[in-house]
Order: sequence, then structure tokens, then C-alpha cells
Amino acid sequence: MTALEPSIPRGDAVGLLRAIVRVDSRNPSLVAGAPGEQAVSHLLADVLASWGFRVELQEAVPGRPNVIARIGPSGGRALMFNGHVDVVDVAGMVHAPFDAEVRDGRIYGRGSSDMKGGVAAMCAAAARAADQLEGEIIVTGVVDEEFASEGTKALIRSGIRAEAAIVTEPTQLRIGPAHRGFSWIELSFRGRAAHGSRYDLGADAIAHAGAVLHELETLQRDVLDRRTHLLLGHASLHASTITGGAGWSTYPDRCVLQVERRTLPGETTANVMEEFSAACARAKERFPALDVQLTPMLTQEPSDVSADAPVVQALSAALAAEGEAVSITGVSAWTDAALLNAAGIPAICFGPGDMGLAHADEEYIEVAEVERVTRVLTRLACDWFREAR
Ligand SMILES: [Zn+2]
Repeated sequence: MTALEPSIPRGDAVGLLRAIVRVDSRNPSLVAGAPGEQAVSHLLADVLASWGFRVELQEAVPGRPNVIARIGPSGGRALMFNGHVDVVDVAGMVHAPFDAEVRDGRIYGRGSSDMKGGVAAMCAAAARAADQLEGEIIVTGVVDEEFASEGTKALIRSGIRAEAAIVTEPTQLRIGPAHRGFSWIELSFRGRAAHGSRYDLGADAIAHAGAVLHELETLQRDVLDRRTHLLLGHASLHASTITGGAGWSTYPDRCVLQVERRTLPGETTANVMEEFSAACARAKERFPALDVQLTPMLTQEPSDVSADAPVVQALSAALAAEGEAVSITGVSAWTDAALLNAAGIPAICFGPGDMGLAHADEEYIEVAEVERVTRVLTRLACDWFREAR
């Protein structure tokens, strides 16, 4: 910590939360010229070192370091707490984004719910549990979750291991063992330009896109609506953007349709591409001139940990022991839990704050929720190593 910075008492979640909200860590891949995570990662590293953690900074992206902080006996069992330290843009916010103002039991600011509240709670919990730990808690503050998740990807590349992970994204103390993934598919239609009077020559690329949209709607209604997950509802797709056309009196020679497909655990990009290809083939039966190329643009995998997994069971027990309700829910947004899961570290979401306030023009977190999550995670850290998992 710099000389000007008052020290934050060990295990003080709210003090740490206010300190890190005050540091602008807007993701520079989302917001041109934004400062990125360097300052907040250094602050977090300094505080955690002063709290007794073994701390390293890991350059996930040049100038954008992850914080990896370990506490408890090393060389044996380990449990990970993971949270991102980047935040999204502040344009249009109705209050000062980096003041961390406290009002009516809430802390206001960009990132308070998504997810510096969770980061502060997990750090404070590991610190409070330190003297009772029979294994190692690895606290990871990661960069770039809001864009390409380069932080958690770097963690995984470095070979980090843990028996399980809690990603402290905002769930209002509900356990989130699963979330959907997504695939972005671009459909590029080629028609034939011709004067608007020359139906004998023209091929209408926009009409062809319309025919495929109709088939995709049928796919949604007849197939995806019925493909459900206990916590996540059904699989879905929607049109994202469409461009094409040259003028009133010209047959459009090109149309590009971008579609997002939200995937359930078990669905892969290959499945999605097959279903889209089949939809295009059906449209082509009606429009033989239809010419379309499908390109998968970006895929993020779904995440699913079973409700009887040790990490879900242990967190449920910790909640109950702290007098909290145990509630299991599907998480609406994509998170880094999917990457950890895919790397063989069962990861679930659990944290303070409301995902509904993430990225909103008014963002705050209930102080009481931060404290409650800190207590539950402290209990989890203490109890995790007492049983074989
Ligand atoms: Zn988040």
C-alpha cells in the first residue's frame, strides 16, 4: 500500500470493497483508453500481502496482471475462490462511479455488485479462516472477464489446481451450479444483383435470409423450446443483427444475418451448426437459388456442476450453519466458472449482489450481503479440508 493509503484491517470485507471500488478498473478491451486492472490488482496484492497471504502477480495480458494469493498450509489440498477485478463502462451512470459512497446500507459504484463485492468477500473470508485452515485457499483476482476472460485462461494455462472453485459472481447468496453458454453464428447469403424489374435475373439475398429466419423460428418452437435444463429453462436463439441491400430498385446480392444461440449443458457448437445447416437446407427446398455460408464466430461453453457435487454440498452445509437459506438457482449470464469446469476444477457461482444491477446505470450492493457471504465463505474454508471430498 502507498504511504497515503490507510491500511485496511485484516478480514475487513467492506473496507476492502470500498478501496477497490474507488480504483477505476474499466476493461480496456471494452472501453477505448480505459486504465485496465493494473492499479486495482496492485492494490489488492498489497492488501492481501499485509493480511498474510503469499501473493504473486501473473501478467495475463501485458500490463494487466492477475492476483494469485494463497493462505493456509501449502503442498496439499487446495480450494479456489475466483473473482474478476475488471468492470464495464460507466457511461450513463446516475451516480459517481468510483466514489464507493455508502448510503442506506448500500455501497454505490461501478463494479460494486459485478463483482468487487464478491472479490472483497472472498479475500476477507480466506483471511478470517487463515488460522483454522487445514489446506490452502487460493484467492484469484482475475482480469478481462468482461471481454475475453484472458485472466482465468492464463490461470488455467499456468496449471493451477484446486479441488473445486467458488466464483463469487453476484447471486444474492443463492448457489449457482449451472449457467448457459452461447454460440454466435454468422449467416452470409449471396444473391444476384439485378434491376428491380428483372425478376428473371435477380436473386433476393434478403428474402433468403427471411426464409432461414422462418426455419430458425420453427427450430425454436418445435425443438429448442422442449430441450430443457432443470435450472436453466430451455435452449434458445435470437436474431442479433441483419445487414444487406443496395437500393429500392435493386435485387440485393448480399445479406448478413448474425444469430446468437444460447446453449444448455451438453450442447456443443457442432450440434448448433448441424441444426442451423438443417434449417438452411429446409429453406433451400423452397428457394433453390438460396446460397448461404455459415460461420461460427465465438463460442463460450455452458457450465454445469451436479447438485450432489461436493462443492455444492459443502456450500449448502456452510449456508445452513450460518443460519442462511439454502437455495439453488440457474445463473443467467456466462461466467468464468465454465472455463474452470472445462479445466477439471468443479466451479459454481455464489456471491453477494444482484446480477440484475450488473452493467446497469445504477449499481450498488447491500453491505449486509457482503458480510453474510464473507461469513459463509469463512465457514466453507474452515470446513472444506476437514472432510475427504
Ligand atoms: Zn461479473
